[in-house]
Amino acid sequence: MKSGRRAFLSGLGLASLATAFPLTRCTAKDGSASPAPARIGNGNMSLSFRPYELQLEHTFTVAGNSRNTTPVVLAEIQYEGVTGYGEASMPPYLGESQQSVMAFLSKVKLEQFKDPFLLDDILAYVDSLDEGNRAAKACVDIALHDLVGKLLDKPLHKLWGINPANTPMTSFTIGIDTPEMVKTKTKEAARFKVLKVKLGGGNDREMIDAVRSVTDVPLYVDVNQGWSDKHKALEMVHWLAEQGTEFVEQPLAKTAVDDLAWLTSKSPLPIIADEAFQRLGDVADFQGVYSGINIKLMKSTGLREAQKMITVARALDMKVMMGCMTETSCAVSAAAQLSPLVDWADLDGNLLITNDLYEGVKVIDGKLTLSDWPGIGIRKRDA
Ligand code: MG
Repeated sequence: MKSGRRAFLSGLGLASLATAFPLTRCTAKDGSASPAPARIGNGNMSLSFRPYELQLEHTFTVAGNSRNTTPVVLAEIQYEGVTGYGEASMPPYLGESQQSVMAFLSKVKLEQFKDPFLLDDILAYVDSLDEGNRAAKACVDIALHDLVGKLLDKPLHKLWGINPANTPMTSFTIGIDTPEMVKTKTKEAARFKVLKVKLGGGNDREMIDAVRSVTDVPLYVDVNQGWSDKHKALEMVHWLAEQGTEFVEQPLAKTAVDDLAWLTSKSPLPIIADEAFQRLGDVADFQGVYSGINIKLMKSTGLREAQKMITVARALDMKVMMGCMTETSCAVSAAAQLSPLVDWADLDGNLLITNDLYEGVKVIDGKLTLSDWPGIGIRKRDA
C-alpha cells in the first residue's frame, strides 16, 4: 500500500511527502481525524451536488446591478470515506446559472479516474467537456484539491510551501448606496483595516466623503466599468489618490483597451483588471494595459489555474489581487490558501451572507487567518 502511494506521489514530485507525512489517518466528514485504511489509488471518486441560495445581509449594489441573494451550487467528491467540498457561485452578470452548472456537473464522470492525485489529467478532462462554465469547473477543482489535501492530512498552503503568516489584510466591500447607508455600513465594518468601495453609480465623491467621515483606513476602489470618459477617469483617480486609495479596479469598459492603456500610463495609482480578465491565456495581453489583475476562482476555473496566473503575472511584473464572488467559506477559504502570494486580497464574500454552511478562514485584526484543517481548511458548521 505504501509503495503504491509513493508511486502516485513521485509522479507529482511529492515522494518525500510520503515519507515525511505517512498516511496513518484521514479526515472524516465532520473534519475530525479518525483511523482509516489509507488505500489510495484503488477506489472510485463520485461527485454529488445541489443548489443553494446565499442570503445577503444587505442589498448589494454595484455599477450595473443590485441583488439580495446569490445562487450557488455546492458539491462533494467522495473517495474512500473522505469528502472534498467544492462550490460554484454565479452572480447573474457572469452568464452561468444553477441550471447550467448542474447540467455541466452531470456530465463530469470522475468514476473513470482511480487516482485523485492526477490533478492535471482530471482537470484537463473537466475543462475539455465544454467551453466556458468556469464556475462549474472551479467547483470540481476546489473539491478535488480539498480531497487531495485531506487524503494527505495537510492544508494546501502547507503542501505548496506557502507561509500562512504572510496572508494579507482583506478588504470589506461597501456597495453603492446613499451617504447615510454608506456611513452605517462603514461603522459596521470597523474591524477591517482596509475597505473596498464600489463606485460608478453617479455619486462617487459623496460615497468617498461618507466613508471618510467615519474612517481613515486605506481604500480600494472598484468601478465595475462604470466610468466612460478617460479624462474624467484620470481626474477622479488623482482625487482618489489624495483620499488614501491604493488602487482602482476596472475603471472603464473592458472593451476600451486603448483608453485603459492611456489611463494606466498616466495614473498615480495601479489600475487593476477584473471584468476584462478571466483565465490564464488573458494575462499576457494585459501587460501595458493594466498594472495588475484580480484573480477569482470562479473566473480562473479554480486553484490550479489561479496558481499559474500568479506565476505568469509576476513574470510580467504585474500586481496581483485575489478576489471572490459572494460565496460561502468553502470557496473563500480555498482562495485564501493562495492569498500569501498576492499583493491585495478582497476575500469577504462569506462575510456578506447570513447562511454560511462552513467555517474556515477567519479575519483577525483585519488579516486573513488560515485554519490548520486539511485541504482547503474548512469544516461544516453544526446544523
Ligand atoms: Mg471587481
